[in-house]
Amino acid sequence: MNAPLDMEKAAPAAFYLPHGDECTVFAAAHANRLPVLLKGPTGCGKTRFVTHMANRLARPLYTVACHDDLSAADLIGRYLLKGGETVWVDGPLTRAVREGAICYLDEVVEARKDVTVVLHPLTDDRRILPVDRTGEEIAAAPGFMLVASYNPGYQNILKTLKPSTRQRFVALEFDFPAPEHEVPVVVRESGLEEARVQPLVRLANKLRGLKGQDLEEGVSTRLVVYAATLIATGMPVERAVSVAMVEPLTDDADVKRGLLDLVLAVYG
Ligand code: ADP
Repeated sequence: MNAPLDMEKAAPAAFYLPHGDECTVFAAAHANRLPVLLKGPTGCGKTRFVTHMANRLARPLYTVACHDDLSAADLIGRYLLKGGETVWVDGPLTRAVREGAICYLDEVVEARKDVTVVLHPLTDDRRILPVDRTGEEIAAAPGFMLVASYNPGYQNILKTLKPSTRQRFVALEFDFPAPEHEVPVVVRESGLEEARVQPLVRLANKLRGLKGQDLEEGVSTRLVVYAATLIATGMPVERAVSVAMVEPLTDDADVKRGLLDLVLAVYG
């Protein structure tokens, strides 16, 4: 049973085109109170997916973009001075735990080590959040779910998830969509007609082929949407592709020339 909720507090409706059974798996994990880990490159639809599912499950969503300075206190809360008084202010994780919301920790490996300590009692069947500062131990309200994402492509030995943490999650793998999925996504997001989106997606896949050789990471669906959006509002194709799909990928002049050759191969 979920905590009663009015739809007004739920995450906003968001268009999401599934590439497999990820919606079914997520809903089953939620129904069974299991946390979910989304693995995949940046800009391939993970955040959109979580927003879509939070709306479908009628849950509020708290999203936290993790960074290397993010500590457990940023998630749990802290005492703040307000009008001469010290008051406790819940952080996003505590709010989600109390309200039975979904808490999405984007790029969780970036966060400081003390964050994982907080996640452990929440991700097993205890489902509690110990708040040391206030002495509280908050039981997660029905409907609460922890979702985390990370990008296994960033090969940073210091920043991988420890097995003891990752083995607490049901994990779903994400990747850039196949062309037959990416084309309708880009059409829908940008408003550009299908015949003009097709070569952009073809180009994106050629650029993705360079990952590991010249590029650290392939061009994201987000960037293809940017390029298509700029084209739809009148920017010449060549310029839009250059600013949205080439420049964001590299600073190296030789690599850039190589990428522009691929652009010519598609559009030339
Ligand atoms: P991530 O969280 O993986 O970095 P996002 O969820 O922000 O990526 O996705 C970037 C953009 O790509 C979204 O804003 C959306 O326009 C588009 N997108 C990617 N995949 C999908 C999909 N399956 N359905 C709808 N939009 C998608």
